[in-house]
Amino acid sequence: MSSVALNFETDIIIIGSGFAGLAAAIEAAEAGASVQVLEKMMAPGGNSIISDGGIAAPGTSYQEAAGISDSPELMYQDMIAAGQGLNYPDLVKTVTEGAREAFLWSRDYLGVKYKNRVDIFGGHSVARCYTPEDVSGSALIKRQLVRLKELHVPIRLGIFVESLIQDEGRVTGVRLIEGYRYSKPGHEIQQTLTAAKAVIVASGGFGSDVAFRQAQDPRLGSSMLSTNKPFATAEILKECIRIGANPIQLSHIQLGPWTSPDEIGFGAGPLFGDYVVLPYGLILDPETCNRFVNELTDRSLLAEAILRRKHPVIGITDEAGVHTAGWDLSRPLAKGVVKTYDTLDELAEAYGMDPSTSKAAVERFNCSIESGIDEDFQKPILKEAGPLNRPPFYAMRIWPKVHHTMGGVQIDTSARVIHRDQYPIPGLYAAGEVTGGVHGACRLGSCAITECLVMGRIAGRKAAI
Ligand SMILES: Cc1cc2nc3c(=O)[nH]c(=O)nc-3n(C[C@H](O)[C@H](O)[C@H](O)COP(=O)(O)OP(=O)(O)OC[C@H]3O[C@@H](n4cnc5c(N)ncnc54)[C@H](O)[C@@H]3O)c2cc1C
Repeated sequence: MSSVALNFETDIIIIGSGFAGLAAAIEAAEAGASVQVLEKMMAPGGNSIISDGGIAAPGTSYQEAAGISDSPELMYQDMIAAGQGLNYPDLVKTVTEGAREAFLWSRDYLGVKYKNRVDIFGGHSVARCYTPEDVSGSALIKRQLVRLKELHVPIRLGIFVESLIQDEGRVTGVRLIEGYRYSKPGHEIQQTLTAAKAVIVASGGFGSDVAFRQAQDPRLGSSMLSTNKPFATAEILKECIRIGANPIQLSHIQLGPWTSPDEIGFGAGPLFGDYVVLPYGLILDPETCNRFVNELTDRSLLAEAILRRKHPVIGITDEAGVHTAGWDLSRPLAKGVVKTYDTLDELAEAYGMDPSTSKAAVERFNCSIESGIDEDFQKPILKEAGPLNRPPFYAMRIWPKVHHTMGGVQIDTSARVIHRDQYPIPGLYAAGEVTGGVHGACRLGSCAITECLVMGRIAGRKAAI
């Protein structure tokens, strides 16, 4: 590896090409700054591009049409409740107050096409989540890339940022490796890039960094699978900490409580687990053949309840539930992750459950749906939910996977990175999953993309001043 002296300069360097980094790049370029986005992989998009693209926002026309009353204040209360009060209130306020505008920015300014529906996920008190037509974060990434091309902002791929450079405390650039190949090392050149205005860190979470995540939560060793891409690692977070950034709440790592142990990665199962079972179905423990949890509680409580069973559990719904949910399950069915059964007896037998006990559990759940009150676990019964009695019955094994890292560097509402001595580090901004404080102990579904867009755009605007 050869070392080359300082050879290029820009106003703003952005580390990472996910939702947060690209949102920051658009705003900074719109404000007139020269910008370079550095991405270690050979394709842009990070975890963002494999996400479902679901974004949460209150006070939209979709909610109005569905007769849903919502507000930034209600979304704030939901996020604080799920976060167990550990969220930084001013950051939650910034995100919830900016949520509607960020959603409209993605739709009207960037041109992302959303489905004409609004969904509820566990822990939200009302439906406020919007999904792109193709149920993929790639819809947003593609539109962000189109806009950046129009703005002549280069996305430099295969550039691994090794370290931040400081001059009398101010962050003035990065040391990087050009020609980086994640799976094929050998042709790298070391370079230096200086930033006249600022460096924005948007390097994502550390869900795939087994050593780093296990140091925060010893349960999350290599036997725990992850929904993340394998390169979601902590090197830039550690570099920020090295220069004095305050790391906050790193041990709050979210497990997705709707993933299948019968496939790797995020897979096809969550579409059934998260979007169909949790709102319209039930989860049984195959050992007791009974329910054990409010399926619509937040992700943290649900994942912990499943982990306590010490074995995969069974998510179940019927044809009516699938129809009401209105999602195309052909992928999880074709993969064999979700299976169908003509009767509840057959379903029970397939998962080694006692048929009469499991059928009694389904019947008791059906009574809760009909009365509108779940006396056992206080699951909110949605008005369009019906009893599970129309075959075929659908089922999937569920076991949590590492999904999101709530902790990261401390930032303020201007996206400035805060030093451990509680002052902003000059020249350093951050946004997205590499930061901590917005979600506290638990992120609600669809709130990460809202956060990435709101805080990424703020970082870009502020850094360009
Ligand atoms: C499968 C899946 C589904 C999800 N679905 C949703 C959803 O529907 N709604 C929702 O709100 N949230 C969802 N999430 C969470 C959400 O997608 C992420 O929190 C969000 O995309 C993170 O965006 P980001 O810009 O912070 O980071 P990322 O999108 O991960 O981008 C970070 C980028 O930085 C690059 N990078 C890192 N280190 C370096 C380095 N040293 N040098 C150069 N580049 C570097 C990475 O390669 C990566 O491309 C999902 C997450 C996953 C994994």
